[in-house]
Amino acid sequence: MQLTEPLARAAARRPGETALVFGERSRTWSQFADRVARLATVLRQAGVGEGGRVAMLAASSDRYIEYYYGTLWCGGIVCPLNTRFALREIIEQTTDAEPTVLIVDDVFAAQAEPIRAAAPSLAHVIFAGDGETPAGMLNYEEALAAAEPSADAGRGGDDVACLFYTGGTTGRAKGVMLSHGNLMFNAANTAALTGFDETLVHLHAGPLFHLAAGGRALSTTVVGGRHVVLPRFGPAEVLAAVARHRITALTVVPTMLSMILQQPDFGAHDLSSLRAVTYGAAPMPEALLRRAMEALPGARFMQSYGMTELSPVATFLAAADHRPDAPAQRLRSAGRPAPGVEVRVADADDRTLPVGEVGEILVRGPNVMCGYWRRPEQTAQALRGGWMHTGDAGRFDEDGYLYVVDRTKDMIISGGENVYSTEVENALAEHPDVVQGAVIGIPDAKWGEAVHAVVVLRPGAGLDAAALIAWCRERIADYKCPRSIDFAAELPLSSVNKVDKAALRKPFWAGRE
Ligand code: AMP
Ligand code: MG
Repeated sequence: MQLTEPLARAAARRPGETALVFGERSRTWSQFADRVARLATVLRQAGVGEGGRVAMLAASSDRYIEYYYGTLWCGGIVCPLNTRFALREIIEQTTDAEPTVLIVDDVFAAQAEPIRAAAPSLAHVIFAGDGETPAGMLNYEEALAAAEPSADAGRGGDDVACLFYTGGTTGRAKGVMLSHGNLMFNAANTAALTGFDETLVHLHAGPLFHLAAGGRALSTTVVGGRHVVLPRFGPAEVLAAVARHRITALTVVPTMLSMILQQPDFGAHDLSSLRAVTYGAAPMPEALLRRAMEALPGARFMQSYGMTELSPVATFLAAADHRPDAPAQRLRSAGRPAPGVEVRVADADDRTLPVGEVGEILVRGPNVMCGYWRRPEQTAQALRGGWMHTGDAGRFDEDGYLYVVDRTKDMIISGGENVYSTEVENALAEHPDVVQGAVIGIPDAKWGEAVHAVVVLRPGAGLDAAALIAWCRERIADYKCPRSIDFAAELPLSSVNKVDKAALRKPFWAGRE
């Protein structure tokens, strides 16, 4: 199983059809495949060998999809970096992944020097922007033009294809290793479950450094559909792109969907081409889903539940489950296990619980990651007993539908982005005036959850919330920083003397589910 095979196949079968669209630029399948084969040569010449890492720090674009396939074609491992991370977080990841090559665009070129200084593994930085090439970098287009197309390196199966960084309760991000087989299994499953075929015109509106969008890019290629890429999400841009490119399918997180529906001129756009909306990554409020289904009556709605470690899909709520004749509670469900994927709900000792009881969601199957990069202990812990421990709490109903009801991991999902409380608490605790800080998620109409901190200051400290938030901004990604801070004399403790987060959350969540 090779992720590059569907690209070669589409290029052979439908060479002249449009494959990639980005703004005014478009490429056919044969151009796409040719550029990928040239990029593979460029990367190989830059020193990327079998299993060598290629990191990218760039906004989404048609080229970003070339980075994925070019790296795989050359036999390397794709290592997408979160563009919203603070420089220090990016440096942590590049020193951990040790990439040979870093690809940047115009916006992120300025960060390349400090990254290069901190990451001696980097032999080359490739500038894939449209402006002037900064000194010391290779120009992407010039390098492609000068290179001969090379043959596929032939990696596949259990060979690692991608390294996606995901936060952790320890406060440091871990690289999730996904193999060709993992991702191909998921892409083929997605194609079968969604019913997408070569008439698909998919809008990649979310960031391609996330597996949610990156995985969709892989599955779009698997069916030979057309990729239309937006550089960044904006509700107005999505509506305009759907009308202009006759988009047939859109993948969103709940916050994106809510913003799209709230666009004042929503009704003025021709959205008649839209046949499918797939959503996931965070709990979908039922009211929002019902509003969306009403606003887009021509589209089938489908949900995935999963995580990066699961390539990412574990369960799937089909279009049929969204129809008016389906039981109403289905819309609160995350669906049934995807074909070939085993899902069970277990107690603290991994014993399967009866239907209806809430426990941790465990997953086993060909979609489960190879492990965390260079972290054997955390890998063994997450995969103990051969099952991926999701850190999500859920229950099954009699019909085999899964309901995700809570998280056992100390994580907040804000606008589809995961925020591990520990990362934020560490940033707070670095401030000399802070004795202790506890971070929780509180309900937020737009973002689902918002990051909230409760902080104990040193006696006499004159620190205010704005200054403390500014402090965090220098250390962690913007979306991880607290939106609000309460100062307290002390934090409530549980019986084992840990901060009692349930008690902190309670007043905010009272009266909800
Ligand atoms: P990530 O690794 O970024 O894909 O995040 C995975 C986490 O997102 C899961 O462990 C869940 O907590 C959450 N998640 C993903 N999909 C859903 C969904 N459909 N409903 C509720 N939560 C979800
Ligand atoms: Mg996520």
